[in-house]
Order: sequence, then structure tokens, then C-alpha cells
Amino acid sequence: MSNQENKNDNNNFFNQNPLITFAIFSIVIIGLFKVLVGDGASSQAALGGASQRVKQVSYSELKSLVDSKSVKKVEIGQSYIKAYSSNGSSVYTTRIVKGDTKLIESLDKQGIEYEGFSETNWFTEMFGWLFPFLIIIGIWMFFAGRMQKSMGGGILGMGQSKKMINSEKPNTKFDDVAGVEEAKEEVQEIVDFLKYPGRYVEIGAKIPKGVLLVGSPGTGKTLLAKAVAGEADVPFFSVSGSSFIEMFVGVGAARVRDLFEQAKKDAPSIIFIDEIDAIGKSRAAGGVMGGNDEREQTLNQLLAEMDGFGTDTPVIVLAATNRPEVLDQALLRPGRFDRQVLVDKPDFEGRIKILKVHMKNVKMDDDVDVEEIARLTAGLAGADLANIINEGALLAGRKTQKTVKQKDIYESVERAIAGLAKKSRRINPKEKKIVAYHESGHALLAETTEGAKRVSKVSIVPRGLAALGYTLNKPEENKFMMQMHELWAEVDVLLGGRAAEQVFIGEISTGAGNDLERATDIIKSMVQTYGMSDIAGLMVLEKSRQSFLGGAQQASREYSDQMAQNMDNFIKESLQEHYETVVARLEEYRDAIEAMVALLYKKENITGEEVRELIANFEKEAGIESKLTDSIDEIEDELKIDAEMVDGEKE
Ligand code: ADP
Ligand code: ZN
Repeated sequence: MSNQENKNDNNNFFNQNPLITFAIFSIVIIGLFKVLVGDGASSQAALGGASQRVKQVSYSELKSLVDSKSVKKVEIGQSYIKAYSSNGSSVYTTRIVKGDTKLIESLDKQGIEYEGFSETNWFTEMFGWLFPFLIIIGIWMFFAGRMQKSMGGGILGMGQSKKMINSEKPNTKFDDVAGVEEAKEEVQEIVDFLKYPGRYVEIGAKIPKGVLLVGSPGTGKTLLAKAVAGEADVPFFSVSGSSFIEMFVGVGAARVRDLFEQAKKDAPSIIFIDEIDAIGKSRAAGGVMGGNDEREQTLNQLLAEMDGFGTDTPVIVLAATNRPEVLDQALLRPGRFDRQVLVDKPDFEGRIKILKVHMKNVKMDDDVDVEEIARLTAGLAGADLANIINEGALLAGRKTQKTVKQKDIYESVERAIAGLAKKSRRINPKEKKIVAYHESGHALLAETTEGAKRVSKVSIVPRGLAALGYTLNKPEENKFMMQMHELWAEVDVLLGGRAAEQVFIGEISTGAGNDLERATDIIKSMVQTYGMSDIAGLMVLEKSRQSFLGGAQQASREYSDQMAQNMDNFIKESLQEHYETVVARLEEYRDAIEAMVALLYKKENITGEEVRELIANFEKEAGIESKLTDSIDEIEDELKIDAEMVDGEKE
């Protein structure tokens, strides 16, 4: 938290926390009351010193104490009596028995000093009257405060919602944001403008007012926006689009107004609106009748504010979304969010850089291999990678290690990829057998089919809710297209699981459903989109109308029924044909599969190297020519060269 934020907090503390204010107030009052008035016991203690014990006794006991002259002084109030013991160690108290005069007689007889005292005074009387009022005032303040909070202005001061819009001055720098070099370059200009607005204004340059950061969740959009503020050393006002909508009608718009007012006052500054699609959804896409008045008002206010200040006011609005296609076109017009910066998921090199950023503050063991982790985490966003490092550190901490080891990171990668390890879930032995053969089938095909992705790990430990086992493939990096034989190889690998069940178990299970679906999809795309079959030739049957960032894909059929029939037949026949070769391969490599299953039973997880070793041994023994595709070492060497280049760049 920055200084500025703290300052704001202090100013508003009592306004924003009426309950706490009231509690403090009450404690002070009650404390005063106690000190000034006191009750029986405490005033006794005050009179007699700290060592006196207060004892509750019965009236008759008190009388016998008087008779035996065990007390030296007695004080008589309206409702109770206090008596001080002769040795000064105790104070006895008892309630008065009305109408008894014998006590006074005894006191006189024994020559014990006595006097009356008043149990109340003006202060207690007044407090007795005031107390209920204080409680009522307190409750009222509490509810008024809450209402004010939820209405963002509220009863106690209309339109004072700006109290809740806090800014911070982040310490985040561009170095903290890794793997999104292009995006960083694009926002560099904004940093410069915020730092030296004068230069641009004098020349008359038009600086963008609004920049839309587009990318999947967790890719670092918020982080990048903060880094812009951090680099430029300007206040950062952060709000979430959805927070505007949860409020009463009219309040969202008022908040937008206050937000801009505050940001302009503190200019140069940055406003960051996360999830802008919550307010900026196109009116058409809004759907349901009547739409959402609150959202529309908020959106209109936002548009008005953005139009309202000139390009010479150094306030930049950054907004984040992962669904730019749903945004209202009005938001994207010139002078508003007319610039889009893509904050994409990192590639191999990007992941290495992000991992390194997050490893900086964690004690990593020398055995940690960043490239290997980056290789296993294809498709994950920066937030996932940050999480993996942190999870690894937590695991290491739990095992009371001094450093985080590669093993810990592996475990945390697996958790991230396949959900938490369900170690406690018991595997039914029959299922375990099916899964072991199924996964071994995938692995064998992956290693013996030209063009398939290498195996990195085979596991029969159930993960998450759905997967009973899995085979991790090493994705090849910097690969943006696939050749036809590689697509067919993928089909073979997918069919390997089911074929293994048939060959080794003699019956098939439901476990292969997803594999078959994916295999079918691959062949379908080959026919429809890539012109890789004879039935459609070069004709494209389905345009890939993929919206930006892989949003909803709309298909439209623009071909004959005859073509559809042919395609269905082609898919079915090719699946069958490939299935048969896969079965034949598995039968040929029967002993290799059996060895793999045996090892899986023993270890539950086996590595790609172990798989290749088993296959190589089998081929040697059986005297068949090796089908193992390019040795993994070659590929790893290639990847290492890439990684070294990354390191080189950094220095
Ligand atoms: P988004 O706003 O895109 O959903 P965030 O910026 O909130 O994502 O990212 C959450 C966290 O993930 C960040 O605070 C950071 O720790 C980590 N992170 C995400 N992307 C990156 C990146 N490119 N470089 C470094 N860390 C990242
Ligand atoms: Zn499978």
C-alpha cells in the first residue's frame, strides 16, 4: 500500500467506520463512569488499598462479625452495607434487611465506627438516562454508514462516493512483467507521455486516452497497467467493471464521475478498469428485455467522461477484457478505447522469463531446471506459472526443506495441469488395469509413430475429478502449423488407448470417449478446412469464422448433402483404417506394453525416457528395426539452444 493510500485511509477512518468509532466512544464513556463513580467493590478497593478482598456475606453473618468485634468500621448505604475487617484484610458486603435496628445497637455496644453513604450521584443518574440514547445513536450511525457504503454517496452526504476511490502508487516495474514484450513496447509511449506531458502538449501530439488490454485471464493485464503507473510514477486508480453494476441505479454513473474527477485532480494519473465488458457489453448483446438500465447509465457516463477531457489532460484510461468482441462499438470509437494491446499467453521463451521473475524471491535448489518446467507448462498463463512456483515453495516448506527442488515444482505443475492429486481416492483394481493398458497404448503409439509428439510422462495416479490416468506429451515449441502426417500421427496416438483396451483386456470401456471425439475432430478439420482429403479436394467446406481470441466459433454449412455423406464416410473409414494399423502395432509390441504396464503398476508414474528405454530393449530382443522416432536428446538439444539464446538476450 502506498503512502497516498494510507493518507486517504486516515482521513476517512472515522467516517468510514462508524461502528468502530461508536465502540471506542462507548468504552471511553464506560471507563470514565467506572473511574468517577465506581461500584461498591471498586470504591472499597480504592479506600482500603489493593490487598483487601471483597466477601459477600449474609446479614446474620455480618451481625455475628460485629458481635465478635471482627470489624472496625461499617458503612451503611440505601441498599447494602460494607464492613471493614479489623485486620484490614477483607471488606464484607451484604444487603440491608429493612426494619432491623439491632445492627446499629450492636455497633454502638461494641464501639465500632459507622456511617452512611450515598450509592448514587448525579453522574450515574444522568448516565442511566443517556445510555439508551447513546446506543440508539450508535446503531443509527452504523446503518447509515453501511447504506452510505452501498450507495456510494448516500444519506450522510450525497455524491461523496469519492471517498471510496483510492489510488495507489505501485512499485511495479516493466521488469516484473515478463514474456509480453510487444505489449510492453506498445505501452512504453504512454509512460513517456505521463512522465513528460508537456513535451507532447507543446507539439500538439494526440495521445491515446484509452487503451484496451486484451487477453485471457491471468496473462498480466492488471500487472502491466500497474507497471505503466509504476514506471511513470503516477497514481493508479483501479476499479472493476462489475463493481459498478452491483449498486443501485444511478450510483454507478456517479462513481464514474467521481473517479474521473479524482483522477483529473491527481493528473498525471492512470485509471484502470478491469473487466470492462461488465459495463461495456454492446447493447445488442445485452439480450434480455429492457436491458440493464444501470449498466447503460454507467456506460454513457464513462463515454461522456472520456469525451469530456482533452488529449492534453494527462489521464490515461487502461481497460482490460478477454472478450473484446462483445464490447459496445461506441467504446471503441476514436478518442475512446481506440487502441488495443494484445496481452497474450506466453510462449516457451516467455514462460522461462516469467518463471524466472517469480523464482527471484524464492530459494530455488540448484537442481531446478527452468526450461524443463517451461516445456511442461505450454498453454498456461502468467498467473498459473506464478502459482506453480508458489505451490512448489509451499510443498517444500511443508516438507521442511531449505530450498525448493525440481521434484516440488513437478508436483505443483501436475496439480496445476490436472487438478489436485487425489491421493486418498482408492483405485479399483479393475479400473487400474484398464487405465494402465490404455495409457501405455497412447505412449507406445506416441513413441513409435513418425510425427507424433514425444511422451514426457505416463501416469495412472488419478488426478482431479475426471482423469483416471494421463499421458503428458512434450509440446514442440515455436510450432505454429502441423503437417498432414503429424495430424494423422495424432489420430493414431489418440486411438492407441482404445486399441490397447481391446487387444489386452478384450473389451472396451467408456474411458476412450474423449479420445475418439478428438480424433474425429482432427479428421473433420482436415477435410473441411485444410484441403487434406480427396473427397473435398482443395475446396474449403467450412470457413473458420473464429472470432478474436478463439471466442464462439460459428459454423455455417455451405455444401451439398452428397458432400456431407462423403465426408461422414471418409471420417468413418479413415478412423477404421487407422484403428487397424494401431491394433497391429500394439500386437507387434505386446511385450513392450506388458513391460510398461508392469512398471506403471510398480511406480504409478513413469517418464518418457523410461518408456523409450522399454521400447528400445524390446526391439533389440525381438530383433526388429527400431521405430522409435528422433531421439529425444536431439530435440532437447535444440530446445536448449533456444533457451540459451534467451539467457543471452537478457545479459
Ligand atoms: P489479468 O489481469 O490479466 O487477469 P493479472 O495481472 O491479475 O492478470 O495477473 C495475476 C498475477 O499473475 C500477477 O500479479 C503476476 O504475479 C502473475 N503474472 C501474470 N502475468 C504475468 C507476466 N506476464 N509476468 C509476470 N507475472 C505475471
Ligand atoms: Zn486416452
